[in-house]
Amino acid sequence: MTEASAHRYLIALGSNQRLPGVGRPRAVLDAAVAALAEGGWQVEAVSRWIESRPLGPSLRRYANGAALIAGDLDPPEALESLQAIERSFGRERRGQRWRSRTLDLDIVLWSGGAWHSPDLAIPHPAFRERRFVLGPAEQIVPQWRDPVTRLTVRQLSWRADPCA
Ligand code: ATP
Ligand code: CA
Ligand code: CA
Repeated sequence: MTEASAHRYLIALGSNQRLPGVGRPRAVLDAAVAALAEGGWQVEAVSRWIESRPLGPSLRRYANGAALIAGDLDPPEALESLQAIERSFGRERRGQRWRSRTLDLDIVLWSGGAWHSPDLAIPHPAFRERRFVLGPAEQIVPQWRDPVTRLTVRQLSWRADPCA
């Protein structure tokens, strides 16, 4: 039997750009899940992909979803691993926030609770207001609890503004 993983993360996936050789945003998210598994993560659950309106200056529609991943990397190492996958999908990290991008991988919740360092905040500071995060998250971890509000993902999802 293999040892249980030290850490589990709920991550949010987003894409609003085609990737040559991979395809449209939904295909990019499928490929991202494969890349997570190839990168050593145990992918324990994946939501359905949804489409959502763009946030900020970009006009393209997003494909969004959530995944539950397990592994031995601590939060800073996990962020590095996710950013390496983003880069391998052609994402450039210069320029404005929320610009059009092939792949965005955010850490939403962590089995260890809260984390705060200059480059990383868990829970993700905006997730409670984002239907495109909470809807997919509710499909896979409805009972996970936000360590800040003490509400479950399901409760946060019910509470979120349907227009957000
Ligand atoms: P948002 O965070 O509002 O969804 P974004 O995903 O477009 O915006 P990025 O440009 O992808 O923002 O990331 C900016 C920085 O956010 C990253 O370089 C990273 O250091 C930091 N960051 C802080 N907390 C997190 C987190 N929980 N998950 C991912 N990145 C985070
Ligand atoms: Ca994001
Ligand atoms: Ca991000």
